[in-house]
Amino acid sequence: MFRKVLIANRGEISVRIIRACRELGIPTVAVYSEADANSLHVRLATDSYCIGPADSAKSYLSIPAIMSVAELTGADAIHPGYGFLSERADFAEICEQHGIKFIGPSSESMRKMGDKANARKTMIDNDVPVIPGTPIVHTVGEIKKFAKKAGYPIILKATAGGGGKGMRIVRNDDEIDTNFTLCRTEAGKAFGNPDVYCEKYLENPRHIEVQIIGDKFGNYIYLGERDCSVQRRHQKLLEEAPSPAIDEKTRHKMGEAAIRAAKAVKYEGVGTCEFLLDSDGKWYFMEMNTRIQVEHCVTEMISQVDIARQQILVASGERLQYKQRDIQLKGHAIECRINAENPSKDFMPCPGVIDGYLPPGGFGVRVDSHVYAGYSIPPYYDSMIGKLICWGENRNQARRRMYQALKEYVIVGIETTIPFHQAVIEDEVFKSGNFNTSFLEDFYKRQNDSKK
Ligand code: ADP
Repeated sequence: MFRKVLIANRGEISVRIIRACRELGIPTVAVYSEADANSLHVRLATDSYCIGPADSAKSYLSIPAIMSVAELTGADAIHPGYGFLSERADFAEICEQHGIKFIGPSSESMRKMGDKANARKTMIDNDVPVIPGTPIVHTVGEIKKFAKKAGYPIILKATAGGGGKGMRIVRNDDEIDTNFTLCRTEAGKAFGNPDVYCEKYLENPRHIEVQIIGDKFGNYIYLGERDCSVQRRHQKLLEEAPSPAIDEKTRHKMGEAAIRAAKAVKYEGVGTCEFLLDSDGKWYFMEMNTRIQVEHCVTEMISQVDIARQQILVASGERLQYKQRDIQLKGHAIECRINAENPSKDFMPCPGVIDGYLPPGGFGVRVDSHVYAGYSIPPYYDSMIGKLICWGENRNQARRRMYQALKEYVIVGIETTIPFHQAVIEDEVFKSGNFNTSFLEDFYKRQNDSKK
C-alpha cells in the first residue's frame, strides 16, 4: 500500500479522496493555493502545503510545484481528482518518470483515450458503436463532404476537448466556415490543440455513461450506468442511476462494450465510457473519461462499491475485490450539483461568504462538500460547492427524499442552485423519467408558461 498520497486538487473531491485514504490508514498531503488556505481539504489532510497564488495556472496546474511537494514530503502516489491535471497524460508520464504512482491509468492509455478522434478509431477497431463521424478534419471541403453524407446537423468537436467546451453545431453549408475557424481557435486557446473532427449531431439524445473499474491483472467490472441528460450548455447539473431509459439487457450490452473499450487500451483504474442514446434506442460511444467523475457517487449509492477506495486499491497494485457477478444494483440515486450560482440570473456565479450553513441528513441522504459556515467561496475556480445525493428504493422515493433534503438545506449569504433543483425534482416531465438533453430548454418553457 502507498506510504503517503498527495492530492493534486481542491474542493469536495479532495475531501472525498482524503476520507478514502484515512479509512485505508494512508497519510495524505493536501496542496492549496493562497486563495484556498481555509478550505476543508487543507484541514483534513495529514500535511498541507501552499503551492502558489490563486491563479490555477500557477498553483493547481503547476507540475513543478506539485512534484516538489511530493518529493519533499515523500509522497509515493498522487491523486489528481477531476479537472486540473487529471487528464494530462504528460503529468501522468512525469509521475511515472519520478517513481510516483499517478492514481489513474497509464500515460499511454490516457493518450489513446484523451484524444477524442483517436478514441473513436480505437472503438471502431473494437466493435464498439460510435456516432458517424470523421477523423481530424483540415479543410472546409472535408466537412462539407461529411455533412453531405451524414446529413445536417453535424457537430464540430475539439479532439482535445472537455467540460462541454470546444463544440459547435453546424446546420447548413453556410455555417461551416465561421464555425470551423471559431472551434479551432477556441480549442487552441482552451486545450492547446486546435484539431477538430466532425460527428453527426444527434437531436435530443440521452446522455448515458457506464462506470468501469479495471486492475493491472486485466480484471474488469462495470457498475451500471448513470443518466446525465439534465444539462445546461453541455454541462451536467443533475445525474441519476440507474437511467430510467435503460433496461437490463441494454445495461449488460453497454457494460460489455465499455469493458471492451477499456481492454482495448489496457485501461487500469476507474473510468467512464460516455454514450449517447437516440430516440430509436440506438446508442453510440462518445468518449471515455479517464478519471473519477463528479457524479461517481450515484453509482456508489446503488452498487455499494466505494469507487474512490477501489481506485486507490487498484492503483496500489491490488487485485479488484469484486467480480461482475458480485455487483448487484439496488434502488435509485439522484445527485444535484449545488453551485454558487444564481439560477434566476442565467446561472451567474455568486462567490462570497457563507454566513450560515446547515446541510440536510437522514437515511439515504449524503452531502459531499468542502464548505462550512464562515467559509468564503473564492471567485477563481468552478462554482460547485457541493453535491447532494439521495438514495431511495425506487426512483420516486429517491426523488421525494431529494425534494425534502433540498428544502432542509440551508446556505445563507450566497445564491445557489438549490431552488432550481427543487423545481426540476417536482417537474412533471422529470417525474415521468421520459426526457433527454433538451430537458432544460423545455423545462424553462414550461416554467414560463405556468407563470402566464
Ligand atoms: P465533454 O468532454 O466536453 O464533456 P462530450 O463529448 O462528453 O464533451 O459531450 C458533452 C455533451 O455534448 C453530451 O452529453 C451531449 O449533450 C452533447 N453532445 C456531444 N456530442 C454530441 C453529438 N454528436 N450529438 C448530440 N449531442 C452531442
